[in-house]
Amino acid sequence: STALLWFRDDLRLGDNAALRAAAGADALVCLYVLEEEGVRPLGGASQWWLANSLRALDAALREKGQKLILRSGNAAEIVPALADEIGASEVFWNRRYGPAEKIDGQVTRALKQRGIEAKTFAGALLHEPDAIKGSTGAAPKIFAPFWKRLRAAGDPPAPIRAPSKWPSTKRVASDDLADWSLEPTKPDWAGDMRDAWAPGEDGARKRLHAFVDGALSTYADSRERADRDGSSRLSPHLRFGEVSPTQVWHAAKHALDAPAKERPSPASVDKFLAELAWRDFAHHQLRAYPKIADENMRDQFDRFPWSEERKGFTAWTRGQTGYPLVDAAMRHLWAEGWMPNRLRMLTASFLIKHLLSDWRRGEKWFWDTLVDADPANNPTNWQWVAGSGIDSAPYFRIFNPVTQSEKADPDGDYVRKWVPEIAKLPAQFLTAPWEASPMELEEAGVRLGKTYPEPIVDHKEARERALGALKKMTGK
Ligand code: FAD
Repeated sequence: STALLWFRDDLRLGDNAALRAAAGADALVCLYVLEEEGVRPLGGASQWWLANSLRALDAALREKGQKLILRSGNAAEIVPALADEIGASEVFWNRRYGPAEKIDGQVTRALKQRGIEAKTFAGALLHEPDAIKGSTGAAPKIFAPFWKRLRAAGDPPAPIRAPSKWPSTKRVASDDLADWSLEPTKPDWAGDMRDAWAPGEDGARKRLHAFVDGALSTYADSRERADRDGSSRLSPHLRFGEVSPTQVWHAAKHALDAPAKERPSPASVDKFLAELAWRDFAHHQLRAYPKIADENMRDQFDRFPWSEERKGFTAWTRGQTGYPLVDAAMRHLWAEGWMPNRLRMLTASFLIKHLLSDWRRGEKWFWDTLVDADPANNPTNWQWVAGSGIDSAPYFRIFNPVTQSEKADPDGDYVRKWVPEIAKLPAQFLTAPWEASPMELEEAGVRLGKTYPEPIVDHKEARERALGALKKMTGK
């Protein structure tokens, strides 16, 4: 028998149930489709990641005598046609959730018409959406009860190993990855990303081990820190399925079995597992409430008086707002395609509240620039910050871009790294350079408005303006 394995957001050999099952056939063909229909088109940074991840997967498959076949277009046509071409009796994949399920349904039906069976497996989440239901039978809309139920469902099944025996493969025509033009050439903006990341299953495994042996022990306190590797930085690896959430879950829990001296605090492990569960939560939400992707979950936000203004938005994207912590984070995002969670909350709040911009504009920018841009996590978190989500921070919670540094960057190291033009200022002025005296500015070589911008909005005024806009929306 010949099996076709369709890789999607699960670019790994380990803990891959579809692969394990497909490897039982006499011959195997492995496929990745660059989908042009039915899924949200990838942003620039994610395209860069994908290219590198596919290369890594192909290399790993070649070690097993396989290779990754690349095709682009509509999966609902490509997958059945290839199954026909190679005489497959079964097509295997790991299930995905949300809008992409429509495509998978079309593929299943087209295969059935040809007498080919689709065999699908769990592997993208800790628990599949149907497994976690609220008391009404619907997906919980609030994280706390969701987390309670997820925990009650018990540990996800232990991860499975990559196949130990591999079938032969067949010669099949493949696109050339270079022809997909996923990576930038002129200008090549991916240099810092290459330095910061190692896309692929090996890179994911190393990152997971380094985290479990290191920052996990202090995660509950250090995850907010921008100046340290305080969190796992597994998000792009999870996004592309180079590691499964189940592998991550078990690795973190396993750390509790270590000798007392090396053991992380149970509070840290617990906090980490809860964050991992947020990922499940977002995916369950997107599936149950598809409008979360691009419509306000709270209808009243349809009446919010957003500003269409462009100058502030552009300054935000370029890290030129005059608020150093916001600017550092936005430049970090541009360079490496990532920023820590607290700074995502801060920069999103700044755009939505200080600049009164519709959250969807910011969501699109993040979508294009994040290496972990995720169709469920990104809009869910933007709606959380905007207050337009069901489980969300209230709109009137407005982050202060100066005082946030106490949590994220107490010594100013992060700001110094990403906003070097003010690095020589005394530490206490690093997040508020306008408070330095003319002499201090001069000694640090800073000319506000010339070498570094003045704040594009005044925090207090912006705060009042935002609260006024909220009043307009609610009528209260
Ligand atoms: P850790 O703290 O080590 O957490 C481990 C894993 O748990 C993460 O890799 C991630 O998969 C998951 N996770 C953690 N926090 C969240 C969360 N709040 N929501 C969903 N999953 C979570 N995360 C993305 O993966 N993709 C996005 O596109 C994305 N966009 C965001 C936009 C905004 C405005 C905000 C506020 C948050 C966004 N997040 C997104 C969530 C979170 O910021 C990142 O997952 C996290 O910072 C990634 O770093 P880490 O891997 O070190 O996280």
